[in-house]
Amino acid sequence: MSRASCLRFKQYAGWKPATLKEKERESAGERVMAKSLMIVDDSATMRKIIMRTMRMSGLEFNEPQEAGNGKEALEKLSSGPVDIVLCDINMPEMNGMEFVKKARELSNCANTKIIMVSTESAQELIDNIIADGANGYITKPFTPEKFQEKLSPFMN
Ligand SMILES: [Mg+2]
Repeated sequence: MSRASCLRFKQYAGWKPATLKEKERESAGERVMAKSLMIVDDSATMRKIIMRTMRMSGLEFNEPQEAGNGKEALEKLSSGPVDIVLCDINMPEMNGMEFVKKARELSNCANTKIIMVSTESAQELIDNIIADGANGYITKPFTPEKFQEKLSPFMN
């Protein structure tokens, strides 16, 4: 993790999730269902940071599954699809770009939302990966607010 993202992360360490919105929706009779989640990154530390940031975002999700590369993620997804996959790009064995293409060939992942989380920020790469089937893109360093903004369209 870069020094900048580390500082950014520490800055949000005391941040409390805003659950008021969920409570309002619940009292309005709307059922808020927790989403299933998989975090794919070759760095175990980054997976933990993503997990913590997700918790701080206030989004409702179940205990996430983890995978260290695209190949491992595909194996886990073929035995049980998840609602949302947060996926790194640069990984050994199978990178995020290849993962997106292969995941889109899995019939049981047709409704899975794949959001890339990467330091790569070249617009051409982002456009290509969206064209290949990714549903969104979050650049590192990120914040709980950024996760909330990018993922809330997929939480209903
Ligand atoms: Mg990586």
